[in-house]
Amino acid sequence: MPTSPRGISCPAVSPAIDAHSGSSDWRRSLAQAVRDPDELITRLELHDSLREPARRAAETFPLMVPVSFLARMEPGNPHDPLLRQVLPVGAEEIIAEGFAADAVGDGNARAIPGLLQKYEGRALLIAAGSCAVNCRYCFRRHYPYGEEPRRLDDWQPALDAIAGDPTLHEVILSGGDPLMLTDHRLREMVERIAAIPHVTRLRIHSRLPIVLPDRVNDDLLNLLHEIGPAAVMVVHANHPNEIVGDCAAALQRLVQSGIPTLNQSVLLRGVNDAADTLAALSERLIECGVIPYYLHQLDRVSGAAHFEVAEATGLKLIDELRRRLPGYLVPRYVREIAGEPSKSPIS
Ligand SMILES: *Cc1c(COP(=O)(O)O)cnc(C)c1O
Ligand code: SF4
Repeated sequence: MPTSPRGISCPAVSPAIDAHSGSSDWRRSLAQAVRDPDELITRLELHDSLREPARRAAETFPLMVPVSFLARMEPGNPHDPLLRQVLPVGAEEIIAEGFAADAVGDGNARAIPGLLQKYEGRALLIAAGSCAVNCRYCFRRHYPYGEEPRRLDDWQPALDAIAGDPTLHEVILSGGDPLMLTDHRLREMVERIAAIPHVTRLRIHSRLPIVLPDRVNDDLLNLLHEIGPAAVMVVHANHPNEIVGDCAAALQRLVQSGIPTLNQSVLLRGVNDAADTLAALSERLIECGVIPYYLHQLDRVSGAAHFEVAEATGLKLIDELRRRLPGYLVPRYVREIAGEPSKSPIS
């Protein structure tokens, strides 16, 4: 086992739940995720007036929230920052100028199925189409995942393309969420990538350590340590209330096992658009050994306009963070512009 503690103490972890989980446990937790808006509203004792809009919006993009994530929400609080990320609401039906289905120009970058190659030296693989949580602000609301490969052999053209381009040193597994693949499937895919000699880093972009912490099991940690390329994990948390209990413990397991772990957030109105919140998020992350990486300006995907924070506001927030935090705890405020050779800094 690679998890030898290195003395990082994360106050948000309660020892009682800092238990390692077996490989089937996370599938069970996934199966237990709440998918019915009425169940979510009942379990959180929310007002009945939320039911009808939630049912309607869930018809366009289904509700999905794991019980572990739900357990971190405050019952009776319709403004809970975690609830706001997952509760379908009427505002999603608003048609807003400048918001579109393919907000980041992925449609153009997809020459080979499952492969996005927009940035130098890096190739991004859409390794899985699904997620354990459906974030209401997600570009995935409209992404044509049905067109991505499903069987492992369907990946061969993408893998061949990576193998044929010696300038590619890093493969990014993204999605959807690549950790939705079973342990077995993930291992097969990772081994095929690891067999390409010029790939020296494997980066995994996943929200599962945050929303379904059971996923960070021994099989996963062993896999990440056994492969040739160095593994890097990029998780996605938006609010300090996410980094508690089993989630904080999962992040610690990753970090203490020696996997460099970074976080990306999305700047979201009513969730984390306050300097106190963003500062607390950075502090909570580093208590678990996780470095804040990006703060993304919202992709302008239709149905998510009510989450948008003006860039001028975002810049003020970042200025405030610079005053209050050490530099390494201030995330890079970026936005994705279709056709640009990298994420574009907002400054
Ligand atoms: C964000 C992204 C990357 C990685 O960018 P980094 O700045 O290295 O984190 C790579 N490929 C695509 C298509 C991306 O959207
Ligand atoms: S976890 Fe990421 S990809 Fe999945 S719904 Fe949320 S934002 Fe979208």
